[in-house]
Amino acid sequence: MRSMTTNERIDHLERLLEVVRGLTTAPDLEAFLQTVINEATELTDSELSSILEYDEAAEELRFLAMHWFQRDLLRPVGVPLDGSAAGWVYRRGQPLIIQDVRVDQRHFKVVDRVTKHITHSLVAVPLMVRGEVVGVLEALNKKDNAHYTEEDLTILETLAALAAQAIQNVALQRKVRATAIELAELERLKTDFIAIASHELRTPLGLILGHATFLREMTGEEYGEQLDMIIRNATKLKTIVENLSDVDNIQNGAARLRNQTVSLRKIIDEVVDTFQDEANSKNITLGSEGGGSPFHLDADGFKLSIALSNLVKNALQFTDSGGHVTIRVEEDDGYYKVTVTDDGIGIPARDLPRVFERFFQVETHLTRRYGGMGLGLAVAKAMIELHGGRIWAESEEGRGSKFTFLLPTGQSQHSPAAPGPFVEPS
Ligand code: ADP
Repeated sequence: MRSMTTNERIDHLERLLEVVRGLTTAPDLEAFLQTVINEATELTDSELSSILEYDEAAEELRFLAMHWFQRDLLRPVGVPLDGSAAGWVYRRGQPLIIQDVRVDQRHFKVVDRVTKHITHSLVAVPLMVRGEVVGVLEALNKKDNAHYTEEDLTILETLAALAAQAIQNVALQRKVRATAIELAELERLKTDFIAIASHELRTPLGLILGHATFLREMTGEEYGEQLDMIIRNATKLKTIVENLSDVDNIQNGAARLRNQTVSLRKIIDEVVDTFQDEANSKNITLGSEGGGSPFHLDADGFKLSIALSNLVKNALQFTDSGGHVTIRVEEDDGYYKVTVTDDGIGIPARDLPRVFERFFQVETHLTRRYGGMGLGLAVAKAMIELHGGRIWAESEEGRGSKFTFLLPTGQSQHSPAAPGPFVEPS
């Protein structure tokens, strides 16, 4: 047996390297596998080679890649796991060399009959993906009646590893695509559910509140405590339902701005007033800064007030006794910039990018004790973006949080920031 020269070896390695490169550059799996079998044939001095893959439904091997002239003949052929060399390799996950098929019964003769080709010798290796055999690469008929060598086997094993990698890449891509479709579908279901639930809950809740309020007025103090409890909790539910439908309306584009000239200063003062009692009862200092100018803009004051209230509500909720919550407003290059700063528990860095998502809450045992639905910030974001503004959060765990939103003043040459995904300004 003639052994390879150094030059031949280098040539083989270079060609194998070229196949490796094809893993990322080949246009598709078929083209890549074609390269693999061409190189398998040439580098092992064989007449033919092919790649078979296991077909779970048919419980047999099928040809996945072959030389073009055999394509139509081989495509329909199934190779059984019993009574074939490829099946033997597939089952055991081990390579096989048969130097003379006449004395080895493992060769499957149907293929020869179909292709009118006579197999004399073969070498076959398994295609492994993470320890599992997914197919077989085989080369047939070493030229000049020579015997297959260990080197041929090594070359084939290298090519088989590359083919298996390519097959796995495609399978993973398919999985990623399928998962993306599934996620989109789940998102749609979630949106539908929110829309239906908030719509269906609104009417009965309105009735409960209306009748409970009526009874409260009629019965005086007799059942006052119980009725107050019903009214308080029904009002809480109403806020939740309103939050849900706010997010839904904004997402499906049904939300409309009722714009008029409003004063940001006034909105801030009103929000501070609304929350002053709650802040006092928690021993938190709540106040605003930024001077007395009115900060006029054309906007839906009600929606801005909801956005700001949600930020202040959170700041108070996540700040301990003795803490500070400060609202600040200033004009900044065509924008009004409003910040709500607290020195409370803060938000872990890993959760910060997600706090504006619907239903997101920082879930550690630390924050579990706080109520809420994880909607406040989603609503605030939606309201600010409806106005062509942006909102973001900065925070450090244990030190406090700062929520900022920008609203175009409408007086500048700058185009307003497009509503879009949350982007942290650098
Ligand atoms: P919720 O209505 O549950 O408060 P939000 O959407 O308003 O939902 O907020 C989402 C989560 O972000 C909260 O559950 C909380 O974990 C975190 N968070 C929001 N604001 C603050 C803040 N000022 N300090 C600390 N954590 C906050």
